[in-house]
Amino acid sequence: MKVFHDIVSYSAWRTSLPSSASVGFVPTMGALHAGHARLLEVSREQNTHTVLSIFVNPTQFGPNEDLSKYPRTLESDLKIAEAEGVAAVFVPTESMLYPDGYSTFVTEEKLSLPLCGVFRPGHFRGVATIVLKLFNIIEADHAYFGLKDAQQFFVIQKMARDLNVRIKLTGVETVREASGLALSSRNTYLSKEERTLTAPQFYQILISAKNEFQNGGVIAAVLESARGRLAQAGFQVQYLELRSTPELTDLTAMNILPKEMGAVLAGALFLGKVRLIDNIIW
Ligand code: AMP
Repeated sequence: MKVFHDIVSYSAWRTSLPSSASVGFVPTMGALHAGHARLLEVSREQNTHTVLSIFVNPTQFGPNEDLSKYPRTLESDLKIAEAEGVAAVFVPTESMLYPDGYSTFVTEEKLSLPLCGVFRPGHFRGVATIVLKLFNIIEADHAYFGLKDAQQFFVIQKMARDLNVRIKLTGVETVREASGLALSSRNTYLSKEERTLTAPQFYQILISAKNEFQNGGVIAAVLESARGRLAQAGFQVQYLELRSTPELTDLTAMNILPKEMGAVLAGALFLGKVRLIDNIIW
């Protein structure tokens, strides 16, 4: 497994691959867990070479967010990458990607506005910018994203289509603990009790709301009751919404969800100081 800390040496390796190679790319911020490992596994199944990037991207963090405290665990990340058969790891420095005087950003102007877009202004601008930059550097054929960050996946898909990016994008199903809690690098901030007793109720409540929608429940009423149960369980709810896929239009006004309609039930909430997001897509 090769580890590259600069663009020039990565590009030399990329150029040395035979033209028959197919490169699968998994962008991450590190602190790898079994969710990231699953993306690497799917990439390995579908490509001759898998490239992993590890970069805590400053432009997607707001001023009061956890950029400086974000977990950094390069040594164990490299062990996981090695075990998953990764061919190359790209670990750039901040000044390499955002040198002094940097001034160009990518803004998706529709799907990035609701949900997390309301509470994290500028977040998806940072995400779209770093993903497009990495696409240009890595020169992959195929890229893999987790559906745990469903809005992020839809925004990237839209950005890629709008900007004629010729990379096939795949969304990979969320990997969960046995309790149902979605794996996240931020789970390490939770106390044992929060992690085992409270946090798993997020997914349980999402599942029961989904069942209620599918049994003809009135959308606004189901959402209201689910928000109430989340608050009761000890979460501070930021949002819980039912939206169409992949356009993310608000479905609340529909009254009842049509049977054949693709939808995502997405939420963000705080457990103490830790912000958790999760969703179900069907
Ligand atoms: P991150 O490093 O947390 O920004 O995530 C890097 C990639 O891993 C993103 O595409 C995430 O959606 C994906 N990911 C994170 N957690 C999970 C999970 N529990 N299951 C599947 N994919 C995940």
